[in-house]
Amino acid sequence: MPHDDFPPASVWLVGAGPGDPELLTRKAARLIAAAEVIFYDALVGAGVLDLASPAAERVSVGKRSGRHSKDQATIDALIVAAARDGKRVVRLKGGDPAIFGRTVEEAAACAAAGVPVRICPGITAASAAAAAAGTSLTSRGVARRLSFVTAHARAGEPLDLDWQALAAPDATLAIYMGRAAAATVAQRLIAAGRGADTPVMVVVNASLPGERIIRGRLSSLAFLVDTISDHDPTLLLVGDAVRSPAPVACAPVHVMAQS
Ligand code: SAH
Repeated sequence: MPHDDFPPASVWLVGAGPGDPELLTRKAARLIAAAEVIFYDALVGAGVLDLASPAAERVSVGKRSGRHSKDQATIDALIVAAARDGKRVVRLKGGDPAIFGRTVEEAAACAAAGVPVRICPGITAASAAAAAAGTSLTSRGVARRLSFVTAHARAGEPLDLDWQALAAPDATLAIYMGRAAAATVAQRLIAAGRGADTPVMVVVNASLPGERIIRGRLSSLAFLVDTISDHDPTLLLVGDAVRSPAPVACAPVHVMAQS
């Protein structure tokens, strides 16, 4: 192996990007090819796993919002056990491991067990969604800040977000795991002062074959997500920066107009 950054009995937490295997980093592709065991999430694109060695053991740990097939402690234990068994272990996560990826827990479990662990970044869903729509997440003089927000609450608990801060007119919000809470998000943002006519964009399956982009206004957010199945990864973008596609050479052809 040309690199010595992946010895036996070590772990890499690898960002698999939003789905399209071409959106993997070269480092991620190398680590996936070198892995002897790969623990992967449901959101990892099928084409990404194809880069693994045929001899590699592939273990689905199937994490999807609200439907974890294995709980976090079990995943942590599996990773540590495989590394202790002397394996080169890749923990493959959708998007970037450092954004809503439970990386802290997994890295801490490795560290506590004395297992060397490193992180390979990936392209996060918000970047892929903006690219798919031909737009930008920031815009000079319009959107000076960008907030990555999760709208996933524990069962039975209210969404505990700083609505006042999120309602600032110069902020773009990239809302992960937000489909189920879309109505609440819109209502709370508007109540906190965000304009009801603020542009929103719902991006489903960004960079994947079933990619879909739905545009509208904050006041109609609940309606916009209505037809989306909860199997399809969905990102909500809110803010004036996503008002219209940036003037890129190749405008996307799959934009559904909504107002
Ligand atoms: N670490 C990941 C996010 C994990 S949380 C990242 O950086 O992208 C899972 C959520 O990410 C999904 O519920 C969805 O909101 C979003 N997501 C992930 N992949 C997506 C995709 N291809 N298209 C749209 N949203 C996606």
